[in-house]
Amino acid sequence: MITRADCLALDRADPLAPLRERFILPDDVIYLDGNSLGARPKAALERARQVIGQEWGIDLIRSWNHAGWFEMPLRLGNLLAPLIGAAEGEVAVTDSTSINLFKVLAAALQLQAPTGRRVIVTERGNFPSDLYIAEGLTAWLDRGYRMRLVDSPAELHAAIDDETAVVMLTHVNYRTGHLHDLQALTRHAQAQGAMMIWDLAHSAGAVEVDLGAANADFAVGCTYKYLNGGPGAPAFVWVPRRHQAHFTQPLSGWWAHAAPFAMAPSFDADAGIRRALCGTQPVVSLALIECGLDVFADTDMASIRRKSLGLTNLFIELVDTRCADHPLTLVTPRQPAERGSHVSIAHPQGLAVMRALIARGVIGDYREPAIMRFGFTPLYTRFVDAWDAVAVLRDILDNGLHDVATTGDDHRSVVT
Ligand SMILES: *Cc1c(COP(=O)(O)O)cnc(C)c1O
Repeated sequence: MITRADCLALDRADPLAPLRERFILPDDVIYLDGNSLGARPKAALERARQVIGQEWGIDLIRSWNHAGWFEMPLRLGNLLAPLIGAAEGEVAVTDSTSINLFKVLAAALQLQAPTGRRVIVTERGNFPSDLYIAEGLTAWLDRGYRMRLVDSPAELHAAIDDETAVVMLTHVNYRTGHLHDLQALTRHAQAQGAMMIWDLAHSAGAVEVDLGAANADFAVGCTYKYLNGGPGAPAFVWVPRRHQAHFTQPLSGWWAHAAPFAMAPSFDADAGIRRALCGTQPVVSLALIECGLDVFADTDMASIRRKSLGLTNLFIELVDTRCADHPLTLVTPRQPAERGSHVSIAHPQGLAVMRALIARGVIGDYREPAIMRFGFTPLYTRFVDAWDAVAVLRDILDNGLHDVATTGDDHRSVVT
């Protein structure tokens, strides 16, 4: 039987434990929602003071050059690149994940147009915005594109065929925490003649990703989840070098122009990753992303993944053994190789249980249907947090405390 003392010993032996000091976390909270909104790096407050106080307040417009504002999307992209197996000059940090998905899906459909293929394969359980963006783009194009939605990861292989133009998948499912085999699916999709787009919203900074080794076609993802970039911080887009010369996207704003300050009357795309940009970025928000990325410079993704699986294995085992009398169903795969960095557990009264947990300071969130999500961010979550969260969960279930906590904060309304 695992004890709380065992968990404390795991924390003492954890090489990543000192990184927790780089974040602000309230003492009375066990934060298990970093998969939705990452915690704040301590450095972000000082960086915000600098950007708002000095760069904007004093230096004014000179900061576009002097403070490097204009170069930030590409500079941050290069800092982020090693976390996803991308090369220098292949990643831009800009716009939102939804917008970047629109760009790369449009580019991929354009590249596939000569083949006559008209099918986009994805999962019905994909993050809704990804589905909506694909629906919106294809309806607007009005060229007979169809979505082929599969209901389980096991059906994917067979669903990808010689009609498939693009396979568009989220690496780690936001609801179930299921992790796809990125390399194998990319290989399969391309062998069928399809292009492969990955959404890394729930992977970047949490699981090892090697887009380069997989030879994927395009990728997008969030910075405000495991990368701790701040609420609503701009997202990233990956266009590998081999596709850049023929990558065209319809949001061809002036930041994507080869010579933005020439103010030419017609568009001429930049030769490199800059062509994935659109227009002026939210500089204050963009600047804070670096504080989150800086923390990764002191570790590596293999160590992060090892700790992530240590935390999720422990949490699953504690729920299995200590809450065995209750109607809890593990939604997330038990097989570590198929698991991202959050654990989803269904309970018939999942919403009420999550509300009771949050009222007791254990912050996870809730997703339909009846699923409680618990995110484990290896940079700041401790093994003892898993223990304490399960202790509170057990107390709530043993004593029926969720039956009385019928209202409260369940984070249903926040982005994932
Ligand atoms: C969080 C998330 C998004 C969020 O997109 P926004 O444009 O930032 O709202 C998109 N896709 C997936 C898979 C996500 O998990």
